Amino acid sequence: MPSLLTSARRRAKALHRNLRGAAMAARALASTDHPLLAHIIPVRRCNLACTYCNEFDDFSKPVPTEEMFLRVDKLGALGTSVITISGGEPLLHPDLDAIIRRIRANGIIAGLITNGYLLVAERIQRLNRAGLEWLQISIDNVNPDDVSKKSLKVLDKKLQLLAEHAEFHVNINSVVGSGITHPQDALTIGKRAVELGFSSTIGIIHDGSGQLQPLGEEERRIYHEMKSMEKRSFTRINAFQDNIAQGLPNNWRCRAGARYLYICEDGLVHYCSQQRGYPGVPLATYTRDDLRREYLTQKGCAPHCTVSCVHQVSIFDGWRAPQQTAPPVAVETRGLVQIK
Ligand code: SF4
Ligand code: SF4
Repeated sequence: MPSLLTSARRRAKALHRNLRGAAMAARALASTDHPLLAHIIPVRRCNLACTYCNEFDDFSKPVPTEEMFLRVDKLGALGTSVITISGGEPLLHPDLDAIIRRIRANGIIAGLITNGYLLVAERIQRLNRAGLEWLQISIDNVNPDDVSKKSLKVLDKKLQLLAEHAEFHVNINSVVGSGITHPQDALTIGKRAVELGFSSTIGIIHDGSGQLQPLGEEERRIYHEMKSMEKRSFTRINAFQDNIAQGLPNNWRCRAGARYLYICEDGLVHYCSQQRGYPGVPLATYTRDDLRREYLTQKGCAPHCTVSCVHQVSIFDGWRAPQQTAPPVAVETRGLVQIK
């Protein structure tokens, strides 16, 4: 149980975060010229090795802190609303708290995606003090197996620590889809999350290229049961995953490269974690012209994409600015990869 002081701070921070979120949503509707969400990678290394994951290695050094500050400041100058720090495992970066502070100093909402293994009470309290606003842990199964060690059995103690100490919002994401052998575990994880006072969401695991692997009957049943458990929040306002669960394509305009930016450890801008290589230009030289071009560029991978965070931010512009396919010459000369 959190102390009275922690509960009071949690409520005050939630109110502040929600007010800022509402202001950012209004700004997103009024203007299309700024990113709504950026993922930044301060370290590619991870302390785990989930077999479905194509976003980690076991050797990379942390990005120098001054370099991370420059990237955060550039995202601030572009008018970015939310930055999510991801990885690899971002808690392996020695100056993570300073990076969070820099995000907040730029007036940007600061979020963190972690596997949770390195969380202890003192680390959570430092994240409070740094100004972290939300944190997500994705839990893949109840018991560790060959695919994933992101398991409720291992992480439950960490969740209890978060319930006691975190002043930021906590979301627990569970998954169904390719490689997950016990889809019913998602329900156990979701129920535990709600019991501890967190929000709970469900994701559908994509294949190595971010594309749809249709769900089986049992997975679909669990998916729909989980959806009914999900708390409503600004991150869950669409039926994108409902179509994916049924194996149906989505008709949407992916605004990656404009409203959503994925900044890799080398400081390059990519469409998303699953379409790395394009635009593939340094964030330091990314301009409003780049944002405007990518805003209007149709992505051929969109119909079967499972990258829900990009879909969520693209909803703001679903009703405006039809897209064109990239000119073939530009595709060849700029080294477009993976987009088909
Ligand atoms: S914990 Fe996350 S980053 Fe690390 S291997 Fe697993 S899915 Fe990838
Ligand atoms: S549609 Fe957009 S978010 Fe989805 S894989 Fe393609 S570029 Fe990435």
